[in-house]
Amino acid sequence: MRVLSSELSPSARIDAIKSLREDHFDILVIGGGVNGAGIALDAASRGLKVALVEMADFASGTSSRSSKLIHGGLRYLEQYDFKLVREALQERELMVTTLCPHLVKPVSFLYPLQEKFKERTYVGAGMALYDALRGFKRALPWHKHISQRELSEVAPSLRLDLITGGYQYFDAQVDDARHTMMIARTAAKYGAVITTRTACKDLIKNGRRVEGAVIEDLESGEIIEVKAKSTIMAAGVWTDPLYESFGVKPGYRVRMSKGAHIVVPGEAIKSNTGVIIKTDLSVLFIIPWGNKWIVGTTDTDYEEDRSSPLATREDVNYILAQANRVLEPKLERSQVIGVFAGLRPLVSSDPDSPTTELSREHVVDHPVPGFVTIAGGKYTTYRVMSEDAVDVAITDLMRIVPESCTETLAIVGADGYSVLLNKADELAKDYGISKEIVMHLLNRHGALFAEVLEPALKNNALLKPLIPGLSYLKAEALYAVTHEGARSVDDVLSRRTRINFEAKDQGLGVAKEVAEIIGEVLGWSETQANDSVKDYEEQVRAQNDALAQTLSKSAK
Ligand SMILES: Cc1cc2nc3c(=O)[nH]c(=O)nc-3n(C[C@H](O)[C@H](O)[C@H](O)COP(=O)(O)OP(=O)(O)OC[C@H]3O[C@@H](n4cnc5c(N)ncnc54)[C@H](O)[C@@H]3O)c2cc1C
Repeated sequence: MRVLSSELSPSARIDAIKSLREDHFDILVIGGGVNGAGIALDAASRGLKVALVEMADFASGTSSRSSKLIHGGLRYLEQYDFKLVREALQERELMVTTLCPHLVKPVSFLYPLQEKFKERTYVGAGMALYDALRGFKRALPWHKHISQRELSEVAPSLRLDLITGGYQYFDAQVDDARHTMMIARTAAKYGAVITTRTACKDLIKNGRRVEGAVIEDLESGEIIEVKAKSTIMAAGVWTDPLYESFGVKPGYRVRMSKGAHIVVPGEAIKSNTGVIIKTDLSVLFIIPWGNKWIVGTTDTDYEEDRSSPLATREDVNYILAQANRVLEPKLERSQVIGVFAGLRPLVSSDPDSPTTELSREHVVDHPVPGFVTIAGGKYTTYRVMSEDAVDVAITDLMRIVPESCTETLAIVGADGYSVLLNKADELAKDYGISKEIVMHLLNRHGALFAEVLEPALKNNALLKPLIPGLSYLKAEALYAVTHEGARSVDDVLSRRTRINFEAKDQGLGVAKEVAEIIGEVLGWSETQANDSVKDYEEQVRAQNDALAQTLSKSAK
């Protein structure tokens, strides 16, 4: 009998690959972004036998590159998309209160006003509607008006010569990559077989019916035929090419739109709140991120490599220009610590429409028996999207399946989190670490806190930070491979931690040490460790080149 555990360790991967070879699944999920992970959790918690295959790492596609907001999308009100806003706001309240309070945190935004009467009435009405649409759960405070006088205390970096006041409202934020990985771990806890570095190469067909998929284990090269009654593809921006290679006619198209962000130090902007600025095409967010700010995003058509969208100098210039419309002192390029870019999977039946007008809502397609696909939507609504996809897939199972129960299902680390918060001082004393580090760990791992620090009880060096100035501990790099399914230096620096965009050197200085810490658990040879470091260095170089190349082009 398989022992169910949320631990995604190297030995759990060996067992999972064996299971892919030998077992017959109800549901096979292709893609380990937030939607694939959400589908695996939804299906496993209904009692179904589930497998998930991800070709790279959890959230390595769009789900680690979003603005990291769990929100209704204030601007969708202007498009009268009340259904989308209401659904997303209800999900936001659910995540903050029940599903994952350790990971999803309230965050306030200021909407600056430049005019005293008409704009104030219009925006005020929108804010009231936004607050009302959330339904009965009211975890976050109501919006409030901020006068120009108050503004100089709340957000001294805003240009008071231009801004006459504002509205402060609440949304929530999340470390998207961690959250997605934690959903995958929760799915494993309820019995799902989860593997990364396993790519779907083809579907297994019997006439029109799909009966599973051909998978390649990218670490060993082994080809495995995985049998499943229903295969659900949640491949985000990879949807179109996969439909084509499977020879299945799609019911929709997925268009790619690139969004870039920059990261600047906390002292670059003096404000106690995030800021949302209306731009010609969309909005720009200035989002608090620990002791830093994430500023973005852009919205440009994209047709290049899906695996590694890069922020260009043009993207950075646009973001700086938009932010500097309202900031004083202005942000400078030299203050940028890091950048990241992601691709929005926008669903459309008309490939010629401009991306900004495409729907953010999702589509579920059931083109042939045994095969369901889902794409579009927002990170915030992953749970309802997952439920929709599973509801369609179970029609191929020919048996009664329980309804989704994820509305009350806590993500691993949530149970007991609030008790540990109350004991933060005691924990700091017990482990000999600062309260700040205790809070950092609780807000990333929740009640799994003790599990993360267990090896440090024998090896005190693991309590040291990986990089001076950032709170990530060496113990967290180790835990990333023993429990969180990390398989490379990139997994640890880009997604289990966010050192990639939080450290000025993108973590290059610590890459070798990370390889040493994780290599021992992964059983790496020296060559394998060096290769993983080189891969990471190459990735950082490509991003830096993208920023520099446009620099030389624009200098010509
Ligand atoms: C710039 C930007 C900002 C955003 N901001 C927000 C926000 O603040 N709030 C919000 O709610 N939403 C936001 N979004 C939207 C949100 O991020 C996406 O809707 C969501 O992450 C999509 O998740 P997904 O699982 O569908 O796709 P992905 O995360 O891309 O997952 C697809 C996965 O499929 C895998 N895959 C592909 N082909 C195969 C194969 N053959 N075999 C196995 N695996 C395969 C990929 O490796 C990938 O991991 C933003 C998006 C962008 C781009």
